[in-house]
Amino acid sequence: MCEIVEKQIYKSRKIVLLTKHKKDRAIRPILEKATGCSLIVETGFDTDKLGTFSRDIKRPKSQLDTARLKIKKGLQLSKACIGIASEGSFGSHPYMPVPWNVELVLLYDEKENFEMSGIYESSDTNLDHLLTGSFEEALTFVKKIGFPQHYIIIRPEDSENNKIIKGVNNYERLKEAYEWCYSKSCSGKVFIETDMRAHANPTRMKNIAKAAEDLISKLMSFCPNCGAAGFIITERVRGLPCELCGLPGEMVLKNISKCYKCSHTQEQLYPNGRTASAQYCNFCNP
Ligand SMILES: [Zn+2]
Ligand SMILES: [Zn+2]
Repeated sequence: MCEIVEKQIYKSRKIVLLTKHKKDRAIRPILEKATGCSLIVETGFDTDKLGTFSRDIKRPKSQLDTARLKIKKGLQLSKACIGIASEGSFGSHPYMPVPWNVELVLLYDEKENFEMSGIYESSDTNLDHLLTGSFEEALTFVKKIGFPQHYIIIRPEDSENNKIIKGVNNYERLKEAYEWCYSKSCSGKVFIETDMRAHANPTRMKNIAKAAEDLISKLMSFCPNCGAAGFIITERVRGLPCELCGLPGEMVLKNISKCYKCSHTQEQLYPNGRTASAQYCNFCNP
């Protein structure tokens, strides 16, 4: 018990979170319990200006740079010294035909110039859409995606139409919105999609919490030399020898952890065994 209290690295410190989509619900319990901080929510900047999932505002920067920008705005508005931000992305898995959600929770300590990220990747997402001219089909679709706990977005014509109705979260509104979009549609179709904003999507909120947990587990790894937080693997050196021919290959030979504060370095040789399977060898299995 004493141990845990001792390691509350941000005890009584303020950490600012810029969000208009209630991401504090996912982040606050995990962050405050583990670090002893008090999370303050800043809503004085419209984060949708940095990009939306519904394509009405394109995200000009990468996921990481957008999170950094959110932290910067949060720090400016709040005068806090530590900021946290969450930024998600949705797409397809790089190798499999399944939808893929990558959640990033980033923390930045301005005084220490210290940045740490938590990541969670998952196929557990309801990301989906439907182009239809049938309200019955629309009803089947919304049931499948977990409506009304999960909100939907609806518009006339197709995915790029700029007449967007967001935040649809009950059947009465769904019918109204559907009829309005249908009446505005020249093609007789409406485009319905899942709303991926955190407050509109409990499945995503859960994934954000998992990313926050990843951040905490990285923060809570301490430098054996100076005790600074966030002592994690910073480099993976490849070149593990092949089990048959002994030539160095692409598998990891050693992991290197480096402290951001005192530069103390620790090497871990053979994190995944002393030799690599010949199936990964360019010589034995070209
Ligand atoms: Zn250190
Ligand atoms: Zn070999």
